[in-house]
Amino acid sequence: MADIANHLPFFYGNITREEAEDYLHQGRMSNGLYLLRQSRSYLGGFALSVAYEKKCHHYMIEREMSGTYAISGGKSHVSPSDLCNYHTQETDGFVCLLRTPCNRPQGVEPKTGPFEDLKENMIREYVKQIWNLQGEALEQAIISQKPQLEKLIATTAHEKMTWFHGRISREESEHFILLGSKNNGKFLIREKDNNGSYALCLLSEGKVLHYLIEKDKTGKLSIRSGKKFDTLWQLVEHYSYKADGLERVLTFPCPQLGLNNSKIDFSIAPRPPGHHPGQDTVARSSSLKNEYMRCGVEQGPSKDAMPMDTAVYESPYADPEEIRPKTVYLRREQLILEDIELGSGNFGTVKKGIYKMTRTEKQVAIKVLKNENNDPAIQDELLKEASVMQQLDNPYIVRMIGICEAEFWMLVMELADLGPLNKFLLKNKDITQINLTELVHQVSMGMKYLEENNFVHRDLAARNVLLVTQHYAKISDFGLSKALNSDESYYKAKGHGKWPIKWYAPECINFFKFSSKSDVWSFGVLMWEAFSYGQKPYKGMKGNEVSQMIEIGLRMDAPANCPPEIYNIMKRCWTYNLEDRPGFTQVELKLRNYYYDISH
Ligand code: ATP
Repeated sequence: MADIANHLPFFYGNITREEAEDYLHQGRMSNGLYLLRQSRSYLGGFALSVAYEKKCHHYMIEREMSGTYAISGGKSHVSPSDLCNYHTQETDGFVCLLRTPCNRPQGVEPKTGPFEDLKENMIREYVKQIWNLQGEALEQAIISQKPQLEKLIATTAHEKMTWFHGRISREESEHFILLGSKNNGKFLIREKDNNGSYALCLLSEGKVLHYLIEKDKTGKLSIRSGKKFDTLWQLVEHYSYKADGLERVLTFPCPQLGLNNSKIDFSIAPRPPGHHPGQDTVARSSSLKNEYMRCGVEQGPSKDAMPMDTAVYESPYADPEEIRPKTVYLRREQLILEDIELGSGNFGTVKKGIYKMTRTEKQVAIKVLKNENNDPAIQDELLKEASVMQQLDNPYIVRMIGICEAEFWMLVMELADLGPLNKFLLKNKDITQINLTELVHQVSMGMKYLEENNFVHRDLAARNVLLVTQHYAKISDFGLSKALNSDESYYKAKGHGKWPIKWYAPECINFFKFSSKSDVWSFGVLMWEAFSYGQKPYKGMKGNEVSQMIEIGLRMDAPANCPPEIYNIMKRCWTYNLEDRPGFTQVELKLRNYYYDISH
């Protein structure tokens, strides 16, 4: 599939979006710097990554039925390279013209995905066995039917993989996973029904979590609200690379009992020591091949294989029922308000509740408006918050389920049961620094998403990061947030409101200017709060004293035992001049690399 681009020096093969961004950063992000890579979710497709104004932009190139290539809805081209040539002359919807190819560094070959490596043999085997052809006829059939065969093989390839267990029950899947080794990240996929839905079963801290994989009308597979894929193995490859909303990455495929080595393990292989995302283009794909066969078959039940606590992880991701991110109005009968208060704020109280769906019910958080006077201004505020939340769809941002107008106005959200990060850390001082890095990195991913979509949060603080689990954070409280128009880079507040001064950048205080860069400043304070286990920043100081301290160039000291790499990122976030302050793209990348280094 990617053969058509292999000769291009700026084609990197099957690298991830993050790796592409790393290469563009290494190439200094000059405007119009670009590279081509193979799509990891769209079969036969490519992706073009372009740097412009210090941001990376990614365009999906689809392979059309006619065998031509096009950006969805755009002009067709004979090959991806023709498409790139065209965009060196015409922007035609791109942020800028393609100017400089970001060529592969010396010695780096286009990365072959695990499937690419094996597909030739699989196609050959298929034609031999199913069509019963040999010799010249077999070669001819392969040549003439190649695109169709590739598609067929790719969409059924999972059946050949160790982690695919076919139609087994939920109980059986838990039993298999809990047999033998109980490593975090052990996983399998089971088939749920004939409509193409599957379940991903993942072992984490002794619990088996079940995530529903659904097929949409166009045949794409996805875990609720997550990225969509043409095939199951692409999905597994993606989540083997990053958790992206799952409790953890998929690490160890759970093989079937009595399985011989005729199955292949396409999941991620151990990486070489000192491995760094973006460095391993050749090394990893070849090591993968070696690792496939090493994944042994587990022996029969071991003594300690008694069923453990298999309570189901109640994440909205894991819920087989419908939660539509864009649902707006809910009927009162669909909600049960419980008498458990999760917290309170300016608007009123947030209560635990139940959202009743067609076939099941789900625990939710319900923000109940305290509106004794039926003040339309308060309702308006809630509607504004709901309208921002409704537009957001990211695993690290609390999702809105809907609003309900009844005896009170209610905003129904996903439940993040462990509550605000600062309070959680105050009570859990034994949380490791790796865990803290994981959480703040997740927040940076959510913020990068907001930055890319032109939203400013304006109230980013540890109190507004809620925990679903100890390893899963989500950004919340969009009461002050603003969507910027595409021609705006900041929001200008009309006046001084009830502001969290200690989290605000100097330009917010001095000029009422709010941008993603001012969210970056707040993120630095949030990191400080996290690494000081929930302490209050600038303790004992008043807002105006903090502003004066910042103006004369002073910053908070590092929290006790804070790793220097983390404190350096905080200090970068507190760069006075916003042009010199990094954006979330850079902050996220730094945190991702640091997290990777300490956790591998
Ligand atoms: P603020 O005074 O910060 O504006 P607010 O009225 O906007 O407050 P939130 O900060 O959104 O309210 O929520 C108040 C508290 O309710 C949070 O600190 C948290 O403890 C709890 N809470 C809010 N949303 C959720 C949720 N989705 N899951 C669990 N708890 C939540």
